[in-house]
Amino acid sequence: MHELSIIESIVDIVLEEMPKHNLTKVTKVSLRIGDMRQVVPDAMQFGFEVVTKNTPLEDAELLIEHIPITGQCEKCKHEFLVKSWLDNCPRCEHPNIQIIAGKELEIAEFEGT
Ligand SMILES: [Zn+2]
Repeated sequence: MHELSIIESIVDIVLEEMPKHNLTKVTKVSLRIGDMRQVVPDAMQFGFEVVTKNTPLEDAELLIEHIPITGQCEKCKHEFLVKSWLDNCPRCEHPNIQIIAGKELEIAEFEGT
């Protein structure tokens, strides 16, 4: 379950950042995750509950913003949402597509007291 290791590293980052913002408790964590990461939202929520137990993040709300996979045609530079790896450029049918969004895995923000 790779969600658990993602959560662990996110919680580590938040714990490290907390003193810089004078926080003793975190109430909300927002993540931005690209669809290429293929995370399962339920597994994220479950992992978050498990990992944050007995930490200042316990009972914090976890919000996940999903970023769709966006490709750009290498030939005509057209940008479009990628639905399948077999997709060619919808404008010129060129097969070489570069992924320009959808790999995100970052903390958008967190709140606390
Ligand atoms: Zn194209």
